[in-house]
Amino acid sequence: MQISEKQIELVNDRIQALVKAGSFYGKKLKEAGITGIHSAEDFEKLPFSEKSDLREAYPLGLMTAPEEEIVRIHSSSGTTGTPVIIPYTAKDVDDWAIMFKRCYETAGITNMDRIQITPGYGLWTAGIGFQNGAEKLGAMVIPMGPGNTDKQLQMMQDMKSTVLCSTSSYALLLAEEIEKRGIKDKIHLKKGVIGSERWSDKMRERIHNELGIELFDIYGLTEIYGPGIGINCPGETAMHYWDDFLYLEIIDPATGKNVPDGEIGEIVITTLVKEGAPLIRYRTHDLSRIVPGKCKCGRCYPRIDVIMGRTDDMMKIKGVNVFPSQIEEVIGSFDEISSEYQIRISHLDGKDTMRIYVEASGDHDWASLSSRIAEKVKSRIGFTPIVKIVEIGVLPRSMKKTARVIDERYD
Ligand SMILES: [Zn+2]
Repeated sequence: MQISEKQIELVNDRIQALVKAGSFYGKKLKEAGITGIHSAEDFEKLPFSEKSDLREAYPLGLMTAPEEEIVRIHSSSGTTGTPVIIPYTAKDVDDWAIMFKRCYETAGITNMDRIQITPGYGLWTAGIGFQNGAEKLGAMVIPMGPGNTDKQLQMMQDMKSTVLCSTSSYALLLAEEIEKRGIKDKIHLKKGVIGSERWSDKMRERIHNELGIELFDIYGLTEIYGPGIGINCPGETAMHYWDDFLYLEIIDPATGKNVPDGEIGEIVITTLVKEGAPLIRYRTHDLSRIVPGKCKCGRCYPRIDVIMGRTDDMMKIKGVNVFPSQIEEVIGSFDEISSEYQIRISHLDGKDTMRIYVEASGDHDWASLSSRIAEKVKSRIGFTPIVKIVEIGVLPRSMKKTARVIDERYD
């Protein structure tokens, strides 16, 4: 997915705006002596930007448009220290709404839908992003914000909401409440637009079955407008993203080099027309891959796969980048084993070895089961692990996902 001529032109325009404004990335470019790019190779030499750079620019160091054009700021949560402040011009707010409207349309949502919005409003981009897009579409918005399940369910029935916008965990909670209260026949929901945190297929299936609705993953992050920069189309899991507003790259997080289409790596985003706070080659630390080829739905927008985790989870084994989510997916596809697992990586006789421990009852043929699992893991990651089966209940029940991977190579 090489950068196009048109996109290069837009990047050059943003480079000039950044340098002129002397905002944090503008200074970076100036120091590197960069005034523009001419080719894809040039583009791939541009320095990355990182969340820590954005933090350092607090409070308004990212502002690239003149003050009189800035109409709003948003902020990403500052759980790990200083928050990031993103200034928006009126055009940025409008562009974001156009992208979000496109997301709704891709999901088959129309101006006859009634959209109940449960993500939070305020400094962050969630609630208001869902709302702007819905209003652009001309749908009726029911702006609930989070919490107050009694009221949510009351409004859902009285307003006959047809679309639920929510996190996956809140959608599941609502689904369970509806079931518990026996009000399913009073609910008119048809679709759910779910903020794309990583959620398991099992969770998706439960929400889908209990609410009987079609589910869509919406992608986005505060640093790049907010939610609404990509969504899957009906019947597909990969997400279309809007390449007239954004250029996406997938890089090897360890080397920073672009990987071929189809390979997993870190999503890096360049905003092509953003004014308030343009970002060039922003490292999201989200893992996905470009899905090559044209989508069955006929849309020409390119696609990324569902988010597979964070780069912090990545393991390098036998020179191959492996992500726990890949193993987890394989494990989840075998009914004979429990959902518990443990991965141990060790270095023996100059070689990396990966052992995967899983649980099954004695009713199954462990030898054949373990070789089938090993084969399937190999087809996903490229090398064969050692799969060991133990009795159900033997593996430690841990709350933390990370505790399931034990790397003994560096002890
Ligand atoms: Zn499609």
